[in-house]
Amino acid sequence: MEECIFCKIINNEIPCSKVYEDNKVFSFLDLAPVNKGHVLVIPKEHHKDILDTPDTILADVVKVAKKIAKAVVKATNADGFNIGQNNGSAAGQAVFHFHLHIIPRFENDGLTAWPHKSYEEGEMEKFAEKI
Ligand code: 5GP
Ligand code: ZN
Repeated sequence: MEECIFCKIINNEIPCSKVYEDNKVFSFLDLAPVNKGHVLVIPKEHHKDILDTPDTILADVVKVAKKIAKAVVKATNADGFNIGQNNGSAAGQAVFHFHLHIIPRFENDGLTAWPHKSYEEGEMEKFAEKI
């Protein structure tokens, strides 16, 4: 994947602040953090999103993410953390190489949760059935 910025980071063609690497998974600091200590966890193999990524690779990434989340919380003294993952530009995905965000969270850090909408009468059951 010649033009993929994350493939270039893995291949050491673009610098990054690496926090973890094994033969399948790589992790580094997001350069525009939601909170300081925000890391990205990615598979070394290029896949554009979660649907494109084989299950075995997803399992590898999630296992590493769990380990790194503990380290992020310890290092930043966070009160909690979010794990996020965007699929498609409509969902905010900007880099089309599958990645998990681990974002340390602090009481009163000023970030607001997702807004919530509501269903019309009977609509919820229809969505559940369709899905
Ligand atoms: P997405 O919006 O695709 O879920 O997340 C992409 C993330 O990659 C963004 O949070 C953005 O700040 C980060 N990012 C984009 N380019 C680079 C880069 O060259 N280096 C690093 N460290 N992070 C990047
Ligand atoms: Zn890539």
